[in-house]
Amino acid sequence: MNGQDTNSTPARNGTHTPVFITRDRCPVCGSATRETLLETKFTDPSVASFLVTYYDGRIPLDALTDQSYRLDRCRNCALIYQAHILTDAWMMRLYEEWIDAQASLDKRRSANSCYFAALANEVAGIAKFAPGIPSSVRVLDIGMGWGHWARMAMAHGYETHGYELSARRSIHAASMGIRVLTNLDPREAGAFDYIYCSQVLEHVADPGGMMDQMLALLRPGGVVDLHVPNQGLITTKLRRPDWTASHNAVHPLEHINCFSRTTLRYLASERDMQLVAAPFPHRRTTGTFGIRDLGVYLYNRTLSTHVWLRRAQQPRQLS
Ligand SMILES: [Zn+2]
Repeated sequence: MNGQDTNSTPARNGTHTPVFITRDRCPVCGSATRETLLETKFTDPSVASFLVTYYDGRIPLDALTDQSYRLDRCRNCALIYQAHILTDAWMMRLYEEWIDAQASLDKRRSANSCYFAALANEVAGIAKFAPGIPSSVRVLDIGMGWGHWARMAMAHGYETHGYELSARRSIHAASMGIRVLTNLDPREAGAFDYIYCSQVLEHVADPGGMMDQMLALLRPGGVVDLHVPNQGLITTKLRRPDWTASHNAVHPLEHINCFSRTTLRYLASERDMQLVAAPFPHRRTTGTFGIRDLGVYLYNRTLSTHVWLRRAQQPRQLS
């Protein structure tokens, strides 16, 4: 369910290529009932100065002149979503040209040991949901980026596959030995025991449709480990008169869907899925295991938008 308007905004980029499409319905539940939390021009200084700085001057602001940065909140499932989003072609430009790929890879390469310890902790949690011998457990990382989580899963013995839209990142991941899928092939339906999907769903035009794809790829009883940015106090921040855009859960153009835990429960309830309890950390994330780790665990169980969704063993019976 994508709720996209087929009418595209005319381009101001010297071509006839549309820059934006409009979502007049919630891309999670399809409801048209919404409230607008914020509407301003992409070229307004409160947004434009962030975009210019964040993308280091690589973003062509003149192409965004005619459209507004509008944030709507669905009254049915509580998703906050950007109404006007880039077309697929412009979205590809954003991720392949405006974002500095080398800087992104360098950031990963220069990560400290805590980053890798956190990855190891996440991977260790797979055993709670798929307790078989690791080599018999099929794992898929959707939106794997440079492949660091997938490589950690491989190091733990799991049969690891990865999927990534960026060709450069896919090539890099393949060079590290990860089995890279070129598409989310329906012939792989029911083939995976565990799907890891971190910081992906907030970027896609049709998050409900992507959830359907993940559900189809899972075997009955399989689990999706899903991370998305949390709405948190975003509605309060949007009301401030001195509000300016930033790299948060409603990052203009990129974080086009902003989830609450309520929205994720809705996503699960509309499918044969349910939220299951977060695994207790197997290893400490920083220093000695203590209050911080316990706090993270309790937060993950109750408030966060890092959730685990299990596919039902049997399809739901229609009454
Ligand atoms: Zn909704």
